[in-house]
Amino acid sequence: MRYRRLGKTGIQVSAVGYGASPLGNEFGPADVEEGTRAVHCAIDHGINFFDVSPYYGRTLAEERLGQALQGKRDRVVLATKVGRYGADLETGFDFSAQRVKRSIDESLGRLRTDSVDLLQAHDIEFGDKQQILHETLPALEEIRQAGKTRFIGVTGYPLRLLREVAETSCVDTILTYCRYNLLDTAMDQVLAPLVDSLRVGLINASPLHMRMLTEKGPPDWHPAPKRVGEYARRAAEACRARGVDIAELAMQFAVARPKVSTTLVGMSKVRHVEQNIRMVSKTPDPALLAEVQAILSPVANVCWKSGRAENDDAEAEDKQS
Ligand code: NAD
Repeated sequence: MRYRRLGKTGIQVSAVGYGASPLGNEFGPADVEEGTRAVHCAIDHGINFFDVSPYYGRTLAEERLGQALQGKRDRVVLATKVGRYGADLETGFDFSAQRVKRSIDESLGRLRTDSVDLLQAHDIEFGDKQQILHETLPALEEIRQAGKTRFIGVTGYPLRLLREVAETSCVDTILTYCRYNLLDTAMDQVLAPLVDSLRVGLINASPLHMRMLTEKGPPDWHPAPKRVGEYARRAAEACRARGVDIAELAMQFAVARPKVSTTLVGMSKVRHVEQNIRMVSKTPDPALLAEVQAILSPVANVCWKSGRAENDDAEAEDKQS
């Protein structure tokens, strides 16, 4: 496994990180024992960064990850989140200081630990930017002062909002998803420069574009406009014709970006952990990569609306249109 510095935190994190949302059944029912084996396999093979949220499986993923990490907590850098609890726009989010402070205590209970390493405001585009800056982040700072987290960060989908918040606050990390992979590389222009200018740790989630860049294809709830999935299917076919699994090419492509501290891939199966770890030391076949990029070029950097309209990236399209 390769390790990279997580920005100004100074901690070393594995180039491939463990995304725990599949443990909460976000991609279909996960086998609990297999999920536990997947977590242990990841640790034994050098993955040390684990990301979860109370939102994943509506607390199920934290519960299962906490169970799997018993006796192994000191071997991992553990990240969870606050602010997102459900899908509903009206009731699913609460970025108030009061809720955020209660939330971390609940998460620590489920994760069976006294503190996490990174606490992130989850999907900040669903909140009011002023509240995030002047209430949520100060509350995270208080939680840090209380010793319940070492570092604080923000996560979300619209890139310009994340950049603005990073530039006007003291966050240690930014996590974005589906914005640096075979389908979308916009993160590179908008957020990667902050790694040098602000020394933030950059976390790239969803290198498989939330399962779109796999043989199985995307889940029903995938928000990308429909045509994106059609081109991704053609790209998977082209890989298959050359005896390559598109998931492997996608992992190789994402992990090769050195500005990114860790590439977070969602896993609940041992075979996926083993396969994804193998990709860390491989570079993409240039001819196949060029062919796949050409197939995907009509939908390159297509992105969708997420959260409040005022927080969207200007070019975002309606979901699943
Ligand atoms: P992903 O692109 O990592 O895809 C995960 C899906 O791909 C799962 O169904 C998994 O079973 C499957 N998979 C994994 N490895 C595979 C392989 N080698 N071959 C075939 N299929 C494979 O999407 P994700 O899980 O949404 O993102 C990764 C993690 O990043 C999440 O689990 C979460 O921890 C984090 N994340 C955070 C946010 C946020 O904070 N807003 C958003 C998205 C993701």
